[in-house]
Amino acid sequence: MTTYVKPLPAVTEQSRPFWEATRERRFILPRCDHCGAYHTYFEPWCSNCGKEGVHWEQLSGRGRIWANCRFHKQYFPGFEEPYNVVMVQLEEGPRLMSNIVDTAHGTLDEMPIGMEVEIVFEDVTDEVTLVKFKPISLSQEV
Ligand SMILES: [Zn+2]
Repeated sequence: MTTYVKPLPAVTEQSRPFWEATRERRFILPRCDHCGAYHTYFEPWCSNCGKEGVHWEQLSGRGRIWANCRFHKQYFPGFEEPYNVVMVQLEEGPRLMSNIVDTAHGTLDEMPIGMEVEIVFEDVTDEVTLVKFKPISLSQEV
């Protein structure tokens, strides 16, 4: 594994199950015990109903691009511009910020809003496996 120079997420007691799951190629998110809302943050409370109590639930890892953009300025070390940042609306409802990989050029034409995508796992350190997305059409060519 080459040295990873981009900023890394903090693995906390609350987020550790998420990072352990991504290492095992499983995608889980916290879900409210009371109202069923999924969360893309790691807290024991629900921003939807205000109650405390969440559990982990596995998601399909499939969704559609909800918003896309291309960054032409380096805001953080290690990011070679231009690079894409997308918001993916997951099948189960929540939206997650990520990147699209496995495109020929990484241009916005290759990742239009509404395009179906699926999760890919990228091992960047021994502890951290990041969640990215790729167009579903590419994975069907195998
Ligand atoms: Zn709730």
